[in-house]
Amino acid sequence: MGSTLTQSLVLVGFMGSGKSTAARSAAGALRATAVDLDREVEARLGRSIPDIFATDGEAAFREAEERIALELLGRSQAGARVLALGGGTVGSPRVREALREHLVVWLDVDVQTAWERCAGGSRPLARDRGSFARLHAERDALYAEVADIVIDHTRAGAMPEALAAHRGVPRGVRMLWACSASGDYPAYIGPGLLGPGQGSAAAGKGPQAPAGFWPATVSGRRFVVCDQTVGRLYGERLGPAQATVTIPPGERSKSIAQAEAVWMELAKAGMTRADVLVALGGGVVGDLAGFCAATYQRGVPLVQVPTTLVAQVDSAYGGKTGVDLPHAKNYVGAFHQPRAVIADTDALATLPPAELAAGYAEVVKTALIAGGWLWELVRGGADWDSAGFDRVIAGCAHTKLRIVASDERDAGLRQVLNLGHTVGHAIESTTGYAAYRHGEAVALGLLAALRLSGADRLRAEVAELLQARRLPTRAAAIDPRAVVEATGHDKKRVGRGGVPFVLLSEPGRPQPGCIVPERELAAAVRELAA
Ligand code: NAD
Ligand code: MG
Repeated sequence: MGSTLTQSLVLVGFMGSGKSTAARSAAGALRATAVDLDREVEARLGRSIPDIFATDGEAAFREAEERIALELLGRSQAGARVLALGGGTVGSPRVREALREHLVVWLDVDVQTAWERCAGGSRPLARDRGSFARLHAERDALYAEVADIVIDHTRAGAMPEALAAHRGVPRGVRMLWACSASGDYPAYIGPGLLGPGQGSAAAGKGPQAPAGFWPATVSGRRFVVCDQTVGRLYGERLGPAQATVTIPPGERSKSIAQAEAVWMELAKAGMTRADVLVALGGGVVGDLAGFCAATYQRGVPLVQVPTTLVAQVDSAYGGKTGVDLPHAKNYVGAFHQPRAVIADTDALATLPPAELAAGYAEVVKTALIAGGWLWELVRGGADWDSAGFDRVIAGCAHTKLRIVASDERDAGLRQVLNLGHTVGHAIESTTGYAAYRHGEAVALGLLAALRLSGADRLRAEVAELLQARRLPTRAAAIDPRAVVEATGHDKKRVGRGGVPFVLLSEPGRPQPGCIVPERELAAAVRELAA
């Protein structure tokens, strides 16, 4: 990077995220100048921030802060600059507008860590735990809005690496830096990531359509796995592939037989560990191809290119891969984290409405888990413009990545992602994976989980949201006894004594590992079948 930076690199994030320290070290690595807005404000006003707050009040501070921030963001600069904003600077709409011209990195910090770092210090807004948490939730929405790159505060040191991965990203795309024990990876979410394709106006007249975005940090020949439908639509738009393996669309392709067919094709095409397997498609392709990548030659690099809403909000992240057995879903598989996830939200335009709806069920699930602005955005109805929709998708992906980072291998916290899935999976397996799409089964499972949580009003609200998307809220075709019985096969079962459920009494507060009496479970499932 160095002095080639034409924009400022701007760090945003809550107090205690370590922006100032990160700005200094990033500036060192990039041979840029670090500027700290809080220090700049103090220098110009000749007083400390607690002092300004105490004597002039917060409003006066915000006014000075906005003025100086706008000046710094607007000033033409000779060299590269890394600017750390204050935690609340993004509260100003004019600052948010000015940030569009810059590369904005959000250093994400959880509320507990931030509190531990700030409580008892001199920060005027870190005196009361309750208002601190409210502020954290409010600001989360603003950081999510302005950020080009989202990176956990524990990974601030990886900023140069993240910036390298960000090179060439189309405008309007967000990059989430996903943390994983087996290596961090970028997840790109937004429009225009796949190439325009042959025959489109943007492709021009040449024989070769311009290739889509590909991270400079991922090398190797590309071996693509896709299904027939996605291959026809997007096969060419990824850029050059060494070989393409095409499978039949549908859940039935998530089988060991199909995995074997893919392994054989890859071997025939001469794929090695120096190459990269690209999963282009929905969750079926992602899970199957991911499993093949985990196992072929004991593991080859994987890039997920999700093209369904389910895959873009959920299945492409977090490294769970696998296939189904006849009696239960996802029963055989492996953890295998991708090297990158490339989610072109434009690809959703060709998705059949029923598939979009199925993905919407996972959106509702994730928003319920996240609470905060994401839930507010989702409960407000689904007529988002495309930028709003992209925010929802990135918000869901971020929620999942935060959870997975804290529990990569499903020991505890990660199970919250299974909200609605215990009954959902049981519905899928007892109907032979044929009657309901995964997302449709999750919609039903969410309703059962909310009933079991005693969250009756929330259940009614969610039912309405699902119905508006033509998702099922009743399931005449299911056999309730078989469904209850099948929840016992769930992988999350630990020993005897009942199936642990994820319950949720209010958005943002999922509770994993709740053992539910079989009688209540049976009633919640019967209600669906009624
Ligand atoms: P899918 O992959 O079967 O795709 C649905 C249909 O849409 C297919 O017919 C496909 O050909 C078509 N399609 C895909 N992209 C398209 C596009 N852009 N335009 C037009 N058509 C397109 O289904 P899904 O809902 O994406 O994935 C469901 C699977 O994901 C399930 O097997 C589920 O278990 C799995 N899943 C896995 C995880 C995980 O963490 N690994 C999480 C959630 C779901
Ligand atoms: Mg799911």
